[in-house]
Formats: sequence, structure tokens, C-alpha cells
Amino acid sequence: MSQTYFISSDKRVLGMSPDNQPAAKVPQGVPVTFETLDCFSNTLQHEDQLFTSVGWECINPATGPVWVEGAEPGDMLRVDILDIAIADHGVIASAPGFGEMGDRVGEVTRIVPIRDGKACFEWKRGSETLPLQTPINPMIGVIGVAPESGSIPTGTPGVHGGNMDCKRITKGATLYLPVFAPGALFAVGDLHAIMGDGEVVVCGLEIAGSVTVSFTVIKGKTWPLPLLVQKDDFMTLASARALDDAATMATRNMHDFLVKELSFDETDAAMLLSVNGNLRICQVVDPLKTARMELPLALLDMCGVALP
Ligand code: CA
Ligand code: CA
Repeated sequence: MSQTYFISSDKRVLGMSPDNQPAAKVPQGVPVTFETLDCFSNTLQHEDQLFTSVGWECINPATGPVWVEGAEPGDMLRVDILDIAIADHGVIASAPGFGEMGDRVGEVTRIVPIRDGKACFEWKRGSETLPLQTPINPMIGVIGVAPESGSIPTGTPGVHGGNMDCKRITKGATLYLPVFAPGALFAVGDLHAIMGDGEVVVCGLEIAGSVTVSFTVIKGKTWPLPLLVQKDDFMTLASARALDDAATMATRNMHDFLVKELSFDETDAAMLLSVNGNLRICQVVDPLKTARMELPLALLDMCGVALP
């Protein structure tokens, strides 16, 4: 019987670093399950507990890291997201000064049950509440590897992945990340039952759960990363302090991919992106903001290219 790998949320980090001790060494091609706390370390369990009562040492824990056997600096790490399981309730919180409407929100915590695949919100409206059941889209907020040196807080996104808060990182998606440190030192956390592009109030419907992935190490590729495949699209993700810069980086990364990997003419690749590419916002509330450029996966088929 093959060994199964389970990483408890007791093994968690607040920074991605080559100095982190691996929670486990895992081989390629086998399922590895990570138990994850929500972005508040599961500390908000009642609506009278508020966002600003959560210590920074509890914000954005990522479970891991794991050492992936065979991963060496310069490689690419393919992460197949085999499953995402979530708890039966999530939490959304707001606080003045946070997010895109920090001057318009009070400090409020809402515990939201999940029933039959729907998040059961009750929105205040006039003197009543409007029950609104929203289909869930379980996704991963924080997913990444260690940088070459130093420590990047798990709340920050970047080339290494991290807190990208991309709603397309779901079950069935494949994420390609760079490897900077021996073993890659992969960690994951910050699940959302549902989140809109932008994550404008500073959190999605935050939720505890577990993520099952498998790893493949790819040698000899220098793609612009991170690169994500989900459903009918492949996409480049990029993060920068200003959203304009993140958008430019995501676009240019995809352009690089078209020119260098698919041999498109530079100008034609740019025009193709202008008509077939969809430039979208992932999130605007983390220390760096994240954008993505999406292209139809069918384009790769038409080019006769299969991703490794
Ligand atoms: Ca996040
Ligand atoms: Ca979050």
C-alpha cells in the first residue's frame, strides 16, 4: 500500500523562507493533504469577536512547508490541486481603514453557514435582513514556495506565489511555480468558500479546510511564473505594489510565453492578447496587488503544444 501524506495545521508558517524546517519530505506524484486554518487561525468563531482583536501572529497561516523530493533551484514545480474540502461555516470580517471602502465600513464579523453548496448570507437591508444564498467556489488564497533567501510574509504575494488570492485557484487547477530553494518548501493556506475578484473588503468568506495536491518537478523550463491552468483557460499571474504595474507584468509575462514558448511573432502576439486575452484583477487589498492575464487553453491545442 502506498504511503499517504497528511500535514497537520500544527505545522504552519507565517513566512515563506528557505530557513523553514520542512514538516515532511514528500515524493512526486502522490497525493499530499494539508489541513488548513482560516486566515484568522480560526480565532473568529462568534460574531462578537472582531477583526482587530486578532493578533498579527494569527493572520494568514500557511500549512507546511513540505520538501518536494527532486526539486532544485531553477526547476519548475507543477502543483495539481486534486481536492479542496471546506468546513461547514466561514467568516467574513470588516474593519474601518481596511480595504477599498475602509472609510465606509464598520467593524463587523459575520459567521456564514455553508449548506448544500451555498453560502447562506443574511445582508442587512433597511430594518430587515435579505437572505441571499450564493453558490460557493472553494479556492486557495495562499499557495507558494520559499524564495531564494530571507522570509516573505504569507500575507504577501509575488513570483514565489504566496497570497495571490486568485479565485481561479480551485480544485482541478494546475499551478506552475518557480523553485528557488532545495525541496521548493511548498506551503498552502487561506481558503475561501467564495471570493469576488478584488477581495475589496480585505477578506473573502474565510474558511478552514484541507487541500490535497500532488507535485511534479519539471526541469529545464524558464516560463514566466506563476502560471495557472483552470477549466478552459491558462493564465499568467503577477503582483506589484500598484495594480497598473501588476497588470502590465501579467500581460508581458503572457506575451513572453507566446513569443518564447509558442514562437509567435512579437507584434502578432501583442495583438492576439488584445483580442483574445482577458486581463483581470485577482486582489487589490494585499501588500502587493495581483492581476492575471487569461487566454483560452484551446490556443495551446491549436499550436500543438501540451503543457508538461
Ligand atoms: Ca488572502
Ligand atoms: Ca483570505
